[in-house]
Amino acid sequence: MIDVAVIGAGPGGLSAAVSALQRNKSVTIFGRSIDSGLLFSAKEVDNYLGMPNMTGEDMLNAFFSHAINKGAEFKECRVSQILSMGDYFMINAENEFFEAKTIILALGVNKSRTIKGEEELIGKGVSYCATCDGMLYRNKDVFVVGETTEGEAEANYLASIGCNVSYIPLYKDLIHIDDKVNIIRGKAKSVLGNEYVEGIVVNGEEKQCNAVFFAKKTMPVASLMFGLETENNSIKVDRNMCTNITGVYACGDCTGAPFQVSKAVGEGLVAALSAAKYIEDNQK
Ligand SMILES: Cc1cc2nc3c(=O)[nH]c(=O)nc-3n(C[C@H](O)[C@H](O)[C@H](O)COP(=O)(O)OP(=O)(O)OC[C@H]3O[C@@H](n4cnc5c(N)ncnc54)[C@H](O)[C@@H]3O)c2cc1C
Repeated sequence: MIDVAVIGAGPGGLSAAVSALQRNKSVTIFGRSIDSGLLFSAKEVDNYLGMPNMTGEDMLNAFFSHAINKGAEFKECRVSQILSMGDYFMINAENEFFEAKTIILALGVNKSRTIKGEEELIGKGVSYCATCDGMLYRNKDVFVVGETTEGEAEANYLASIGCNVSYIPLYKDLIHIDDKVNIIRGKAKSVLGNEYVEGIVVNGEEKQCNAVFFAKKTMPVASLMFGLETENNSIKVDRNMCTNITGVYACGDCTGAPFQVSKAVGEGLVAALSAAKYIEDNQK
């Protein structure tokens, strides 16, 4: 079992990884490719102590090499769900499952846009993980809204288990979509339903369905981890970077402003020390 699972390979997550390794903990970083990180696109970062006039790319590469050379494992993936299993956690990383004693969320700023009805119906027919929830909708009508090509795998999987799938790609070129999937070009405006999902509005037309799956670049944190408390769209933490869930910590932009490298790196250190202490206290 992994001691510390870090979700997100930006400055916050990489700092947390280095500090947890320094405390002799095993670390796996789950993250999208390094060049997808926010910092990668910065032409010049001139306010990080001791590293003036750096490009964001050079800085991120330096942070990444440090973490890897120190012994962190890197798993390039999108994490779709983290489940609390009592005294450990289960991470779903593109349908590969990993167990960890503690979690550090270093997800960056939450850029996820939602449509009307989406957040209200999370867990009531709105889902971000076909493998997690697909079986509930066997032989039923489901829609998949694909912000990225990852939506195709979700749609194909749902069709393979017997769902009647309609797929709305929000990008131009499809890569591989199963013949059984009905493709609809257009815009999803809102999810309909009170207690449960009853339909979706596409191109101004109401269509009945039992579930809507979203494949997004970033997901609302509420769907990543059930019960995680947020405030103004940021993960709520105390001074030790503890979230409201025991064993789960957060750092960097995902905990709120200021959105700066130094703040992410500092919070990463604190989160890692808190995670290490939690593991050590539980071993006594
Ligand atoms: C153009 C630009 C210029 C900037 N200039 C400066 C500057 O000069 N000085 C400064 O201090 N700051 C600057 N910043 C801000 C700085 O980049 C951020 O504050 C910093 O990157 C925050 O680090 P982080 O680790 O919290 O988040 P991020 O760097 O955003 O990293 C989060 C990572 O988590 C990944 N992730 C999210 N969800 C998941 C998931 N479910 N599964 C897997 N991976 C996931 C994301 O893909 C991303 O790679 C700039 C930002 C931009 C865009």
